[in-house]
Amino acid sequence: MTERLSLDQTKAALLAAADAIIAATDRLTKADQAIGDGDHGLGMARGFKAAKEALDKKPAAHHGDLFKTVGMAIVSTSGGASGAVFGTFFTGAAKVLTVETLDASTYAVALAEGQKAVQARGKAEPGHKTMLDALAPAAEAARANEGAGLLAAARAAAAAAEEGVERTKDMVAQFGRARTLGERALGHPDPGAISITIILTAIATSIEGFKEA
Ligand code: ADP
Ligand code: MG
Repeated sequence: MTERLSLDQTKAALLAAADAIIAATDRLTKADQAIGDGDHGLGMARGFKAAKEALDKKPAAHHGDLFKTVGMAIVSTSGGASGAVFGTFFTGAAKVLTVETLDASTYAVALAEGQKAVQARGKAEPGHKTMLDALAPAAEAARANEGAGLLAAARAAAAAAEEGVERTKDMVAQFGRARTLGERALGHPDPGAISITIILTAIATSIEGFKEA
């Protein structure tokens, strides 16, 4: 079982996450058209295209460098709330990733640290119908499953994020543009929560691939 990812493997997983976001542009656009201004898909795609280019260019001495490269690229190109929010998630996670290999417990700590950074920056909390409603349960699930290994922790995080997306349908937004919709946003999932699920699912799928290789 792949219990630790090398720098090259994590880079490949981050590139796969970027590709998954880019492939989901239309889905994210439609989700944001339902409760926001419709820019989430293009903003995320722009940020993750820049992240891919930066990952290919910049050398990384440890995992933190990889995550920081992704976060900085997103912050400087995505625009909108999600540029700051998703950029902060990756740069926040980067702070606890000064390691050359990534195991289950480091992955769990990185998700938790990314969550903390997003909350400190954007002042939203779980329950406010944002990406935090996918990220917070994902971080918790990774921590709860870290004893079962990296693949199990990554899969549990992705599954918890997906369940979190479902729960955002029942939430009234208190942050971002959707808050002006009030109860009209009920029934619609939060676009940023969908993005978190796409990212964590792509990472889990990559880890699964390394295991089989
Ligand atoms: P904008 O709201 O500027 O149009 P996007 O449409 O790209 O930006 O992103 C919207 C997403 O950003 C929301 O679905 C939500 O998940 C996330 N978001 C917005 N504000 C916050 C916040 N303060 N904290 C966490 N996530 C947020
Ligand atoms: Mg938007």
